[in-house]
Amino acid sequence: MIILVHGGAGAKRPLKKALQGMGEALKTGYAALERGGSSLDAVADAIWLMENTGLFNAGDGSNLQLDGVRRLDAALMEGESLRAGAVIGLEGFRNPIRAAREAMGLPNNIFTNIGATQLAKKAGLPRLGPPSAKVLERLERARHTGPGRLYETYFSTVGAIAMDGKGKLAAGSSTGGVFAMLPGRVGDTPLIGSGVYADNRLGAVSCTGRGEEILRLCLAKEVSMLMGGWAAPEAARAALKRLVGLGFQAGFLALDRSGGYAIAHTTAYMAAGVAGPEGVFIGTSFEKAGQRADSTIR
Ligand code: ASP
Repeated sequence: MIILVHGGAGAKRPLKKALQGMGEALKTGYAALERGGSSLDAVADAIWLMENTGLFNAGDGSNLQLDGVRRLDAALMEGESLRAGAVIGLEGFRNPIRAAREAMGLPNNIFTNIGATQLAKKAGLPRLGPPSAKVLERLERARHTGPGRLYETYFSTVGAIAMDGKGKLAAGSSTGGVFAMLPGRVGDTPLIGSGVYADNRLGAVSCTGRGEEILRLCLAKEVSMLMGGWAAPEAARAALKRLVGLGFQAGFLALDRSGGYAIAHTTAYMAAGVAGPEGVFIGTSFEKAGQRADSTIR
């Protein structure tokens, strides 16, 4: 059993408080696995907890789009039946990951607008709290910067991947988007195969970074496919090489079907951690452009 979470990647060092929030999420997710819960439960619980902290670019802490509205994206996928669910641009509710979970059980699985709102109501989600002073200040800066300079700072989207006691994989992610987004913008996070992917025969992946770039590569599926032939560290190195070659700003968590994992990023920092039988580890710098920073890849 193992769970990995991330709190985004970017140019700025992640805040200590955010790392502590990730630690709580890891403990919550791992406790769910220890109770016999599924990897899907563990991933959804860990992400829900991070959405609730207000410390990340998810839930209450989400970025505002340039018209001053928060539109939240989230996706979940499990690797046995390949069921997936996502909501795009959810307005007014705090926990899109729970709405994505609801979407998995329906005949249709990806929802925007009225569908996303109805799922949020069905899941009994709390309303979003008012944006923090920090988020409002970020919007002001974004209005001056204008769209285009999307990746100048730290991006604290959240995500998780896990393997449960039955060897089943799951992946999820939740975000408020990026800095200085045009209204209605959608990134990689809610797109299955771009932001998240899970297939018990390949592996599980959750991505973060500049969505406009990640989705052009269908990065989560690309790393998963690489894990069809390689263990997670080798697959991650191959994917990193491609990202670096393209000059893309991204990071990802990868878990292979044997429980091997990798945390990799092309950005200066990535907030991420892992909880497994050997305990909990959290860091801000991992495999980067083929060089190991911490001993966190195995
Ligand atoms: N990938 C997210 C997006 O483009 C942002 C992030 O990971 O921080 O919406």
